[in-house]
Amino acid sequence: MPDKQKTILNDVTLKGTGLHTGKNVIITFKPAKENTGYLFRRVDLDGQPEIKALAENVVETSRSTVLFQNNAAVATVEHVMSAIYGLGIDNLIIEIDGAETPILDGSSKYYTNSLLKAGITEQNAERKYFHITEKVHFENDGTSITALPSDNLSFEVEIDYHSTVLGKQKAVLNSLDEYLTEIAPCKTFVFLKELEILLKNNQIKGGDLSNALVIVEKEFSQKEFDRIADLFNKKHQKYHGRGVLNEEHMTFPNEPARHKLLDLTGDLALAGMRIKGKIKAVKPGHFANTEFVKLLRKQILDAK
Ligand SMILES: [Zn+2]
Repeated sequence: MPDKQKTILNDVTLKGTGLHTGKNVIITFKPAKENTGYLFRRVDLDGQPEIKALAENVVETSRSTVLFQNNAAVATVEHVMSAIYGLGIDNLIIEIDGAETPILDGSSKYYTNSLLKAGITEQNAERKYFHITEKVHFENDGTSITALPSDNLSFEVEIDYHSTVLGKQKAVLNSLDEYLTEIAPCKTFVFLKELEILLKNNQIKGGDLSNALVIVEKEFSQKEFDRIADLFNKKHQKYHGRGVLNEEHMTFPNEPARHKLLDLTGDLALAGMRIKGKIKAVKPGHFANTEFVKLLRKQILDAK
């Protein structure tokens, strides 16, 4: 039996704060017709412009994946796209009343929960797949992403930041059937040294200790540590040494690698067609992910 396309049954709404903008936003997921794909709609702008979630609309990847079309942008789409793709949804309208999706807890769990609440339903049209028949490879600055032929979509991600706290980590997802339990709850992470710079540059206005794992690599004095808490407008807490600052928020020991896999699935959703292949990534990031997806997208369009 060929697979059928899927959408959701009912509208569902979710509220939260954008990580980089700090703005409160409302997202509403709505069912979409067969062969629609994924469509963002900026309901706060005149004419409610639509932005197709496709690789050719990626305009920025430095901190998150940003899409732009019809004079409208939507930023940090990777976690919401990952949830949609991971749950096997093919057609969806994503209404948003701001320029950046909410960060929520830094994972895609709240998105998957909402989509499951809305109910996922099969449509009549058959789902199309792009089969990887020969190796597709993108490499840049120590990062590489490779797709190899396989009957199933699977992922393997390795990270190495030369961090004594994280070490080298690997995450594997053998099937999207395991996405909900193995990947959706995995939070984004940030190194404390990066965080200070971002805070100073006012680039993470919605940042919080509950929406990212904070990796502390260097020894601090309690005084230095309190100064960082002040930067965050947070209460002073006792410094416990190097490690994951908010370990209580961590679900898996290799959660950072799993989160990179979460981001990769979100960016892969921008290919415009489901893939059958084995995806291997070393130190992936949004730039490499989206450049790699552009290569796939070109092959998909050429094959049409
Ligand atoms: Zn992420």
